[in-house]
Amino acid sequence: MSSKVVKFGGSSLADANQFRKVAAIIKADKQRRFVVPSAPGKRFSDDVKITDMLYKCCELAGSGLNFDKEFEIIKQRYNGIISDLDIKIDLDAEFAAIRTELKARPAKDFAASRGEFLNGKVLAAYLGFEFIDAADVITFDTNGSLLLDITVKKIRERIKTVECAVIPGFYGSTTEGIVKTFSRGGSDVTGSIVANAVNASIYENWTDVSGFLVADPRVVENPDVISFITYKELRELSYMGATVLHEDAIFPVRSAGIPINIRNTNRPDDAGTMIVSDDHDFNDDTATYTITGIAGSKGFSTINIEKAMMNSETGFGMRVLKVLAENNVSFEHMPSGIDTMSITVDSATLQPVREKVMTQLRKEINPDHIEIEDGIALLAVVGRRMKNTRGTVARIFAALAHARINVKMIDQGSSELNVIIGVSANDLNEAIRRIYDMFINSEK
Ligand code: ASP
Repeated sequence: MSSKVVKFGGSSLADANQFRKVAAIIKADKQRRFVVPSAPGKRFSDDVKITDMLYKCCELAGSGLNFDKEFEIIKQRYNGIISDLDIKIDLDAEFAAIRTELKARPAKDFAASRGEFLNGKVLAAYLGFEFIDAADVITFDTNGSLLLDITVKKIRERIKTVECAVIPGFYGSTTEGIVKTFSRGGSDVTGSIVANAVNASIYENWTDVSGFLVADPRVVENPDVISFITYKELRELSYMGATVLHEDAIFPVRSAGIPINIRNTNRPDDAGTMIVSDDHDFNDDTATYTITGIAGSKGFSTINIEKAMMNSETGFGMRVLKVLAENNVSFEHMPSGIDTMSITVDSATLQPVREKVMTQLRKEINPDHIEIEDGIALLAVVGRRMKNTRGTVARIFAALAHARINVKMIDQGSSELNVIIGVSANDLNEAIRRIYDMFINSEK
């Protein structure tokens, strides 16, 4: 039977009521055979995630301090869910073992991983599914890098006779048996690996939003949900700060051609966002606009360089970039003219080495003029349809011109998938709203 992998985030499993919604979703489709849970997340905005409480316990234990109070709160959260749902499971032995281990060897990754471990046990008991400890299958090398091939083999071997299973997210173990986690939000990565291993027809990632939005809802009121997005477009948008999914979650499914569907546990009837391969056939794709999404990010600076005859000076760009590389500053964009070049960099990274970079650049390239301009925001307008639609760039700039927004930098990627625009940070939100109006509202 073909199978679906379903991953549920922390807010989807924050309390007994959320567990009920999750179980209803799983039971509604027999193909939802492999479930990857996060640890219980926040129930309300001031609440604390179980993962954060576990980090706290570990920190206290590491300083030789008592962590009973914090540990008790963790126990109560799990026990509360268990008794509310009336599940026949007792985690006392697990709690005792975790406490003993934390006292003896307070290791951060081990501590944090227990949130998913315990939640996986509870969910498996509630669903009547088999529990597979992620430490037995998800494998890292001794430096903590995932060993995908070994992991896939282990999962395939382990599930040979398994009908349905819960595999906790976020952690695995090294070849030496030491528990290791991914970076924060890493249950997304586990889901993607499991989807690859079981050759899932789809990887459903259930969260608390109905998919990726065309623009940031804090900037545009009630923006549309993106119904289809390709992996490449997603990369472009998430690079600018539009994140719903852990960025390492893309690779294992992308390489296997498995689509990801972002869904909302609280609105299971919403179709969500489908993330599909770059060569997906979009012929039957309905409601897509000319652009797929708009993302923006503040906190950039540009180093503006002027030098007569710059373009005929061989190795000029290389010398500029060498100075940046020596100071560990990576560049985002580098548009150049005949006698000018402007390099966009992250302001926070530049700040500590600012003077050094300027001195070295003056020495290396002997410019006629050089200055740093701060307070720059970058805006990415992303869309696979831009390539075949003439006039898209004209419309973007018409929208900005009408709003009297000054464009400081323009960069169109060679794939024609995105246009990156530099504006003053003060203009960013208005720029996003105007572009949204120009493409989404006017194409409705
Ligand atoms: N529980 C972990 C975190 O809070 C991992 C996850 O939820 O994906 O980061």
